[in-house]
Amino acid sequence: MLTDSLKTPALGIYYLATLPQRQKAATEREKKRQVPIMMLFYHRVADQKPNGWTISNANFRSQIKWLRQRFDIVSLEEGQRRIAAEENDRPTVCITFDDGYADNYDEAIPWLLENDIPFTYFVASDHVQSGEPFEHDIAEGCPLAPNSVEQLREMAAAGVEIGAHSRTHADLAKLTSEEALYDEIVGSKRDIEAFLDRPVHYFAFPFGLPENMSTDAFRVAFQAGFWGVCSAYGGYNLPGDDSFHLQRIHADPEWARFRNWLTIDPRKLRRKNQFKPGDYRDRF
Ligand SMILES: [Zn+2]
Repeated sequence: MLTDSLKTPALGIYYLATLPQRQKAATEREKKRQVPIMMLFYHRVADQKPNGWTISNANFRSQIKWLRQRFDIVSLEEGQRRIAAEENDRPTVCITFDDGYADNYDEAIPWLLENDIPFTYFVASDHVQSGEPFEHDIAEGCPLAPNSVEQLREMAAAGVEIGAHSRTHADLAKLTSEEALYDEIVGSKRDIEAFLDRPVHYFAFPFGLPENMSTDAFRVAFQAGFWGVCSAYGGYNLPGDDSFHLQRIHADPEWARFRNWLTIDPRKLRRKNQFKPGDYRDRF
């Protein structure tokens, strides 16, 4: 397996080699009104204690400015509307965050609010309540503080959409009982609604790879009245796709990978969504 330092130049070459093809395809998609609705996920924006899911504040602002010059940056609800409309001719991107790291509150969140950039912020409700760090950070030897209830209240009051990311950041595919799924998915919705005194409409799967999700979990979320669920394995949402399942792309701090995704890598466009609406919507 290639290391990151070798892969990135290889990706740069691939990007340049496919650029004319990408530009032609983009024009074609606009003409046919089949422009994808892209959804990005960030985790932690911070300049201290960087890890695999941290981007620096300067790099984060550069990415958002780059996006703003090229895309409509819209809410998840508007992104979802454009998917469901079956036609879209506007380059569109939604910004999301997973986990809810307290560090985001220092610079990134105030900056997004000052610049009127919509975003959705997914938090794990047990961690918000207890203030306990995530297991994935403890495992790395670097426990980090989650956002507090008070911070989420201030964000919600400023217009930020707060979403549910389970209670304990569990791998939901490992939960086999209906009760356990209900506890993590619907329980987190109820918790956050109680914190904020407003409805929670979106859910993001912890880890978010196909192997961390299940049709049963989709069904529980659908029946609980969520408007949509987010995955995190890198997928493009095309107009006419299932608008309940919002496929998200990692907002990679590595410029080459970020640009590769957002100019539509033809290899990744073909990836199939394995969760079919008929499998989770009809089994009441
Ligand atoms: Zn997460």
